[in-house]
Amino acid sequence: MRFPPYTVYPMTPEGQHLQFLRLALDEAKKCTPTPTAFCVGCVLVSCLEAEPIVISTGYSRELPGNTHAEANALSKFCSLPQDQLSKFNASAQSHADILASADVYTTMEPCSIRTSGLPPCAETLIDARVKRCFIGVGEPDDFVHCEGAQKLVNAGIDVIWLKGLEEESLNVARRGH
Ligand SMILES: [Zn+2]
Repeated sequence: MRFPPYTVYPMTPEGQHLQFLRLALDEAKKCTPTPTAFCVGCVLVSCLEAEPIVISTGYSRELPGNTHAEANALSKFCSLPQDQLSKFNASAQSHADILASADVYTTMEPCSIRTSGLPPCAETLIDARVKRCFIGVGEPDDFVHCEGAQKLVNAGIDVIWLKGLEEESLNVARRGH
């Protein structure tokens, strides 16, 4: 993996969110394009320390099957052995401790409907109890009507629509269409 789990990115607060979204875009560019799905990238960031730390990354179809970026980033983090968690925060006792303060950066709105049988990413993020979700662009109605952001808000997760990378996020997502 190119990033973390162990890298600290010092940066100024104002540009910080867009920088993490750019990391997510780098992930999205690793996707194998397919006409039947989007290419999405996701970065998980822990805010337990003074400087935010990338704790996991993921992209569409990175893990076997028709897997999604957000679920892959979570799954990779949750598969880290317990004894590696102290690298992110000295007092974190569990993966859940870290996720409770974690920010999700995803290039496209987390999905709310899956036709493949896997749980939608919005549900996966809600179950993981992450704190905030920063989104590059809304999911267009190419395949289904997405209500992922609203589901997150309904579950008490802060949703932040980042400005400035919408077009790039969409262009990368539609590679292969
Ligand atoms: Zn998804």
